[in-house]
Amino acid sequence: MAKPASKVRAEEYRNYIGGKWVAPSTGRYIENRNPADTRELIGRFPASTADDVDRAVKAAAAALPAWRKTPAPRRAEILFKVGEILIQRKEQFARDMTREMGKVLKETRGDVQEAIDMTYYIAGEGRRLHGFTTKAELPNKTAHCSREPIGVAGLITPWNFPMAIPSWKIIPALVCGNTVVIKPAEDTPLSTYNLVAACEQAGVPAGVLNIVSGLGEEAGAALVDHPGVRLVSFTGSTDVGRQVGQSAALHDKICSLEMGGKNVIMIMDDADLDLAVEGVLWGAFGTSGQRCTAASRVVIHRRLAKKFTGMLVDRAKSLKLGDGLDSKTDVGPVINQEALDKILGYIEIGQKEDRARLMCGGRRAEKGDLKYGYFVEPTVFADVKPNMRIAQEEIFGPVVSIIECRSLDEAIDIANGVRYGLSASIYTSDINRAYRAMEDTATGIFYINASTIGAEVHLPFGGTKATGNGHREGGTQVLDIFSEWKTVYVDYSGKLQRAQIDTE
Ligand code: NAD
Repeated sequence: MAKPASKVRAEEYRNYIGGKWVAPSTGRYIENRNPADTRELIGRFPASTADDVDRAVKAAAAALPAWRKTPAPRRAEILFKVGEILIQRKEQFARDMTREMGKVLKETRGDVQEAIDMTYYIAGEGRRLHGFTTKAELPNKTAHCSREPIGVAGLITPWNFPMAIPSWKIIPALVCGNTVVIKPAEDTPLSTYNLVAACEQAGVPAGVLNIVSGLGEEAGAALVDHPGVRLVSFTGSTDVGRQVGQSAALHDKICSLEMGGKNVIMIMDDADLDLAVEGVLWGAFGTSGQRCTAASRVVIHRRLAKKFTGMLVDRAKSLKLGDGLDSKTDVGPVINQEALDKILGYIEIGQKEDRARLMCGGRRAEKGDLKYGYFVEPTVFADVKPNMRIAQEEIFGPVVSIIECRSLDEAIDIANGVRYGLSASIYTSDINRAYRAMEDTATGIFYINASTIGAEVHLPFGGTKATGNGHREGGTQVLDIFSEWKTVYVDYSGKLQRAQIDTE
């Protein structure tokens, strides 16, 4: 239950530090408004400073000794309760999320469900935090290796999956025995607050999990820089991630970065075109194109390009924009004014760029009540060349570029010709082509005859090149971010063994 104690008035939220809901030290707040209708104020959330972050990190450090000594299966029992609470409150949390970030209700239900799935899946690891034993080099000597907690984890998350992504980090961090300070995205703090309140209600002890809301450059940067934080896990844009990585490196922190994407769907001349259109429609315009895995490029064999473009444009024009709480809405708003300006800016660039053709959309949608929100018409560009800015840079909105190719080799070259490497897909009925593309496309995630989106929590998630720094969230691989190995040698020979000295 989101505790009433978390609010001072109906819409004023506090930080959760050391088991208490406390006001920000400066008394300043950030307004959280509904992007589908900015007249609706969702709440006012703390504009925290380095002082608030310092208090939270100290609380997490104080809670660390007891939490790391709590047996992992016991830690997991508490986390299973978190999963139960999320199930009970799923509908309310989904509605809160639609109101604060705009995506349609069926998608926000999916976001909460992903947090539930992740919580159950990773809580299960509390009984499986396996290490290993092995024979050592000398007689009467053995060795074992175990996963150990790292310390205080500083977590920084984006707004587009405001409960799922925090859960990908909080739950594994806790099951591994770390304590946590999370700084949620300033546009969507409520969903992360709901998750933290569920953890509080489930019995996560005071200080083990703390939330400090605020601006990235203020509270976020203070968390990354804090000497008491040993591990930083960041999801967000590549530009900010690089700054985070640099600051973390200055203090020798362990740092995992999940960053931007410019994902591609390749459509070969033997593809099932109906299936491909569905995949592109969902990949490009789901979540208003604001998924890290959104399909913003389509590379299609020139023989199918005209037919496909016609089919896609017809479908894109039929999508209904509106409030995500309305069951008839297909596409919600984009997150804020800055995003709106950025997306419209790219549409302008696309129209000016060499011979790209705007096939549909291209404008802000302002009819009726839409004028109160940040709506962009689903936009399709055809005849795009691979080196154009709209085909290279992450737009993060409902805009898709169609690029023609002549062969599988050319499609793969175009797919790989961007700085990012998160997700890619191919539509083909030829198994050999599918496997070639899978092997030669430089992304962390690959789909065959499916869109570029849709992660499952028990599988590793992350990207190559400028999308990440080599870590994977999801799967048991996430445990490698939130634990470190300890190797223990046991010599039971009762004497000094010479080879040991010789090999030193
Ligand atoms: P963003 O980089 O603007 O912000 C992400 C978080 O970083 C926010 O909490 C923000 O407050 C914080 N931040 C900003 N400046 C900071 C600083 N100087 N120091 C510390 N923290 C700072 O990203 P966004 O707009 O919230 O999210 C969209 C981006 O996230 C897109 O690029 C998208 O591709 C990416 N994303 C990636 C994944 C993935 O798994 N690879 C998943 C979701 C989103």
